[in-house]
Amino acid sequence: MPEKFDVAVIGSGPGGYAASIRCAQRGASVALIEKEFIGGTCLNCGCIPLKTLLASAHTLLSIKHAAMMGVDVTQATANWSKMQERKNAVVSGFRKGLTGLIQTNKIKILQGMGIVTTPGQIKIDSDTAPAQIQADKIILATGSQPIQLPNIPFDGQTIISSKEALELKQIPKSMVIVGGGVIGCEMACVYAALGAKVTIVEALDRLIPMEDEWVGRLIARELKKLDIDCQTGQKVISVKKGNGSAKVSLENGQTIDAKKVLVSVGRRPVVDKETVESLNLEMSDSAIKVNEKMETNTTNVYAIGDAVGTTFLAHGAFAEAEVAAINATGEDEKMRDYSLIPRAVYTFPEIASVGKTEQSCKEQGLDISIGSSFFKANGRSVAHNETVGEIRATRDNATNKIVGVTMVGAMVTELIAAARMLIGTTEKITEISFPHPTVSEVLKEAAEDAFGLSLHNPPKV
Ligand SMILES: Cc1cc2nc3c(=O)[nH]c(=O)nc-3n(C[C@H](O)[C@H](O)[C@H](O)COP(=O)(O)OP(=O)(O)OC[C@H]3O[C@@H](n4cnc5c(N)ncnc54)[C@H](O)[C@@H]3O)c2cc1C
Repeated sequence: MPEKFDVAVIGSGPGGYAASIRCAQRGASVALIEKEFIGGTCLNCGCIPLKTLLASAHTLLSIKHAAMMGVDVTQATANWSKMQERKNAVVSGFRKGLTGLIQTNKIKILQGMGIVTTPGQIKIDSDTAPAQIQADKIILATGSQPIQLPNIPFDGQTIISSKEALELKQIPKSMVIVGGGVIGCEMACVYAALGAKVTIVEALDRLIPMEDEWVGRLIARELKKLDIDCQTGQKVISVKKGNGSAKVSLENGQTIDAKKVLVSVGRRPVVDKETVESLNLEMSDSAIKVNEKMETNTTNVYAIGDAVGTTFLAHGAFAEAEVAAINATGEDEKMRDYSLIPRAVYTFPEIASVGKTEQSCKEQGLDISIGSSFFKANGRSVAHNETVGEIRATRDNATNKIVGVTMVGAMVTELIAAARMLIGTTEKITEISFPHPTVSEVLKEAAEDAFGLSLHNPPKV
């Protein structure tokens, strides 16, 4: 008889492992099936390794700016193999910790490809431990893969995805990055800071196009200071590979020589065909269709995270995992406002936003007021020589509440959770005490300004 579980979760990324732990905490017997590495994309070839390399690159840049802080350093150079070693150690440390945590929650980890053969029945394809299990509820958390452009197919050597870009044997002399979204811009910061000549080619008219226009403009200006060439409103029409490098031709006739071409134009959901067919899953392109309870069209089958193509964010997957786990263990929960899941970009400087963008407010015809505050006017930011950037807060004049916050500046990804708490705040923001001197005062000031109550902004004429 196949072993039977209350819940089987396929995929152990942020969505899958979070759902399995929450189900176990709520008393369910849980199997977690993973075909590659525990932790999924985020831990193994996404958020964590990229942020670790960004941290090394940022350290190098900070040392290069040390002299103006009155600290003389003779020379700072990148030790790429040490950076890679450290990144690998960070990833494997967390992987070990996470595996232990899952096991401590009495979740059975099954290593192999999980395929649903009929509702409630899952086979685990594996050379070493093939198995068959039964489960009352199934949560699909199978993630996503990089989108490949038909005219620039990945070869894993010269034309690469983010996965290979995290594992390069050496810092390339030059890199063309196709796609000026989050991953493209973060990778550009890593490699430009380490000395590569980086060109970003973005088809739309600005970088980080899902954020407001001012953000794209500001970040392009800052990336240029890192000597990154930002070609917006441009498309790559062909890549001709030569001896360990490539000639990249753009629509405008320009040709760029590059050692590596990183294609980062987004990710698409993945789920295996057999599972889709045996569960008769309704799909929207490659994404599994779900309702606000994360239920698929098939009873007792839920789907979450990148596989449903909603946020393509680890914490978006966490939020959906919570909802699916609660529903799969007998209660009733719904995903609420997706715009309240913060967006974060770890460029130099960082970008973060939550709630409605100015653009979306305008599209919805809202009457809004924008408050702003600048890091160059903040004591702590100036002390740290981190003066670039701005925070903008948007007030809906009809409800008199903050409905969105967007930030560009040093470490703003650490401030965005506080901004999330300000969504729905009224002019009572003036009564909330923020410590001085801290960078967080810029947030308070921007929110106050949205009500015309800023202390430090000059009066508007
Ligand atoms: C370079 C990069 C940087 C990123 N940075 C950030 C960031 O800073 N912040 C952020 O929020 N997000 C970031 N992301 C996105 C984030 O990694 C994903 O949104 C997140 O990992 C999605 O989680 P998930 O659980 O849905 O899927 P995944 O993490 O992709 O996990 C899916 C897992 O399912 C397994 N699997 C698939 N099919 C099967 C099967 N049939 N049987 C068994 N196992 C299976 C896969 O092997 C994988 O381990 C980044 C992504 C990349 C690529």
